[in-house]
Formats: sequence, structure tokens, C-alpha cells
Amino acid sequence: MIHYLNILTLENTLTMSWRLKYVPLNEFKELCAILASNEGNAFIHLDFRVDEDRRYIATGSLTAQVQVVCQRCMEAVTHDLALDLSLGFVYDEDHAKNLPKDYDPVVMTDGDVILADMVEQEIILALPIVAYHEESGCNPTAVKYASSTDDAPDGEKPNPFSILAQLKAK
Ligand SMILES: [Zn+2]
Repeated sequence: MIHYLNILTLENTLTMSWRLKYVPLNEFKELCAILASNEGNAFIHLDFRVDEDRRYIATGSLTAQVQVVCQRCMEAVTHDLALDLSLGFVYDEDHAKNLPKDYDPVVMTDGDVILADMVEQEIILALPIVAYHEESGCNPTAVKYASSTDDAPDGEKPNPFSILAQLKAK
């Protein structure tokens, strides 16, 4: 598994399809802070090549099953992620502007890119803003508890962020 990639390894990988079998989710610290559980893996497949304009690009896919927090009962709910990746490796922001719209720019610092960080950001961007269990899939005890901590007027759904804000204000 390659976590760290620089322009030289990129040159060397250009002629082959490059497979990252998996990255354990617990290696992504920023992501795990958001998730309900750090169990599971991200499966990644990328093909590297140079396009006709001499751009370094990579296309492929990423799949992962992640545990996010249900906003109704505050317990873990499984969410399947399946992303198509189209990446363009660039040296700076100016260079990124020349990239066709289909590609997400990945800026290489001094010609290097930490692939794991890039993958982590792709996953974070793809997470649902709010997640709920399927109908009746919530833990009823947890729902009762979650709603009993809510001071909002009748009819309003509990908002965990307002509860968090109240806690922080104390
Ligand atoms: Zn739920």
C-alpha cells in the first residue's frame, strides 16, 4: 500500500493500473472524529496516466461503508459511499485553474502528495450532511432519550448542534 506519493513515483506508476486494496478507516483521524465508529475500510482503485496535454491525472473509484450518527436517535447508522474519482495533480493553485472542470485538483507541495490525506478529504466531502435510520430503524429508547434532552418548542425536531452549542456555552 502506498500512502505517500511524489512526482517520481507518479512517473513510474503511469503505465500501470494501480490498486490500493484498502485503507483502514481508523487511519483517517479527521474522518474518524466525524464518524460514529472507526471500523471498516475504504477500498480504492486508481488508474494513473498522462493526458494529451501532459497533465498527470488519475481516475478510479472509492467505496466504503461508514458508520455515521443518526440525527434522530444519535446512534450509529451504516452509510454506503461509492465515489468516482477524477483527479488532476498540479503544482499550485494557478496550475489548478487550467485543469478541465471534470477533474478535482490535487495540489502537490514540492511535487509531493500524501495520498491518504487526499482520499480522506474525498470521503469527508462525500458524507451525508444529516443521516437517519430507515423508517422504524431507530433505537426507541435512544430516541426517547435524544428528544427528552431537547428544549425546543413542540413540533420542532431535536437539533443536536443547538444542544452542543448550549453545552459549549456553559
Ligand atoms: Zn436512528
